[in-house]
Amino acid sequence: MGYTIGLIRGDGIGPEIVTEAKKVLDAAAEKYGHEFRYVEMLLGGASIDATGVPLTDETITEAKKCDAVLMGSIGGDAAVSPWYKLEPSKRPEAGLLGIRKALGLFANLRPAYLYKELNAACPLKEEIIGDGFDLVVVRELTGGLYFGARRTEVLNGKETATDTLVYNEDEIRRIAHQAFQIARKRRNKVTSVDKANVLDSSRLWRKVTAEVAKEYPEVTLENMLVDNCAMQLVRDPAQFDVILTENMFGDILSDEASMITGSIGMLSSASLNETSFGLYEPSHGSAPDIAGQGKANPIATILSAAMMLRYSLNLNTEADAVEEAVQKALTAGYRTPDIWSEGMKKVSTSEMGDKIAELL
Ligand code: NAD
Repeated sequence: MGYTIGLIRGDGIGPEIVTEAKKVLDAAAEKYGHEFRYVEMLLGGASIDATGVPLTDETITEAKKCDAVLMGSIGGDAAVSPWYKLEPSKRPEAGLLGIRKALGLFANLRPAYLYKELNAACPLKEEIIGDGFDLVVVRELTGGLYFGARRTEVLNGKETATDTLVYNEDEIRRIAHQAFQIARKRRNKVTSVDKANVLDSSRLWRKVTAEVAKEYPEVTLENMLVDNCAMQLVRDPAQFDVILTENMFGDILSDEASMITGSIGMLSSASLNETSFGLYEPSHGSAPDIAGQGKANPIATILSAAMMLRYSLNLNTEADAVEEAVQKALTAGYRTPDIWSEGMKKVSTSEMGDKIAELL
């Protein structure tokens, strides 16, 4: 079948890692008889250099015409890059926030998976690692504390700051549906994380999530307080399948979950809207310190492409095949410098892409 995929190469290592992900997608297209058409678009620093702004209407219009968009990372080194002399709304990161908003991306998925070949990079003790873990954090991305009304004022002679955490039932319902649907493609368990012992927004979250759960009888729902979840992630991460949570809790927990894998160059992510459309990108940044040196690990971007196959194009067999090819490359001992250890074969960014495409 034919699909249209938007490609945002981005800044720093972005162009290098997107090239490798495209190589692997092309190999999958050839193997399974699909046609992937690519539409290149600009975002972030590259867009500022070409057009003066980090996000253009053209990029939004083009992205909306695609089945999904695959992106490298954007941004530069704030200490030296001229992009950071611009006012905040004109900097690279503003482009990312802008495109998420323009495309209505409300669900952020961040898987944390431990490859046994990379156990040594995991900061947890061996008895905790056990047979590894495989979880995904589903974070609400457009509501909550980061988007509620805020103000700083002088009250009773003291400077006072207020932020508000607002969720309505529809916002909770749509992200809960996403989490349950994802759990059905995985191990049928959702852990909904909140602070229902203190917050009204969490009590509503719990109520609506329980209602949604009734529509997915094959999926088990458990509730967990956020402070407990932060502990459980380092005590017994294997207990989790899908962690469903609001914006700020998800921001913090997804970073914790990625940290326990120990390998930032391996972690994919997706941001989805209410249709099957999604924006797929590695969890890491644009790594300007190693840009253009062939040292970047392309696996996070390749695994983001696998997520795109699974969640936006509904090509599950192809997604499995890409993930298996990554696994085989690691088992065969190929490592980019960030995950290299004694006795392994050190490869460059493009050699890693070649190996994974070959093994597909
Ligand atoms: P970073 O993730 O880019 O880099 C942190 C460290 O990890 C660096 O030492 C880097 O070399 C290394 N690293 C990251 N990805 C790697 C990979 N694939 N292979 C090997 N090593 C890798 O974080 P940072 O340095 O804080 O940020 C750099 C820029 O990226 C900033 O402009 C920041 O705003 C931007 N950023 C963008 C996104 C995004 O596009 N979604 C996310 C985070 C940071």
